[in-house]
This record gives sequence, structure tokens and C-alpha cells, in this order.
Amino acid sequence: MGQTIFSKIVAGEIPCDKVFEDEELLAFRDIKPQAPVHILIIPKEPIPTVDDLEDRHQALAGKMMLVAARIAREEGLAEGGYRLIVNCRADGGQEVYHLHLHLMGGRKMSWPPG
Ligand code: AMP
Repeated sequence: MGQTIFSKIVAGEIPCDKVFEDEELLAFRDIKPQAPVHILIIPKEPIPTVDDLEDRHQALAGKMMLVAARIAREEGLAEGGYRLIVNCRADGGQEVYHLHLHLMGGRKMSWPPG
């Protein structure tokens, strides 16, 4: 799998609307938001899909959830609620093959999704 647009964002070659960064993770606003708040939390390591996670990624994967919840609180979403989604490969609707957690909120989400 070649370089993705998210690797270029991590490398600083493409700009993003950053909301969080540390040595392992980056979070930025989705360019085509599907909700009033739509943020992507990504590992800096270019892991293509959730199916490519290995045992050594256990802490990293957990941290993605914790950071998502922290951002949700900071964005004022915690009380009303929000949705976290990971799409995996074609049937999951994944378009960018660099693992990312969608954080969406600020409106009532329908269930089940289409
Ligand atoms: P997925 O379908 O789960 O792979 O989601 C990919 C997401 O990345 C989509 O919601 C896109 O709108 C978003 N996206 C693509 N390019 C960019 C970009 N340059 N900056 C921010 N978000 C992007």
C-alpha cells in the first residue's frame, strides 16, 4: 500500500485543521464533515486498516479511544453523546487506507446506518 493522503498530513506535506497531536497520534477535522463536529483520530504510524493492528498496537489502539473521548468532551459533545466509527476495507466503506477513528457529533445520529 503506497503513501496515503493521511501520511502526507502526518509528514506536514498537506495542511490539516489540527485539534490534537502527540508523538503517536494526530487528530484533525474531516474535510467533508458529515456532522457539525467530525474529527478523525489517526496513528502517525501508517497502519492501513483496523485488521492490520497487531498485539504491539494494543496501547496505541486504546489511546485512540481515550483521545477521542477527550476531544469529544472538549468539543462539548460528551453530555449529548456522539458516535465513533472505524470503517474497514471495501465493504466497510473505507476510502483512506490509513487507520482512522471518526468522531462525529453535534446532531442526532440515525441507527442503523445505511
Ligand atoms: P473513510 O471512508 O473511513 O476512509 O474516511 C475517510 C475520511 O477522510 C472521509 O470522511 C474524508 O472526508 C476524509 N478526508 C479525506 N481527505 C481529507 C483531508 N485532506 N483532510 C481531512 N479529511 C480528509
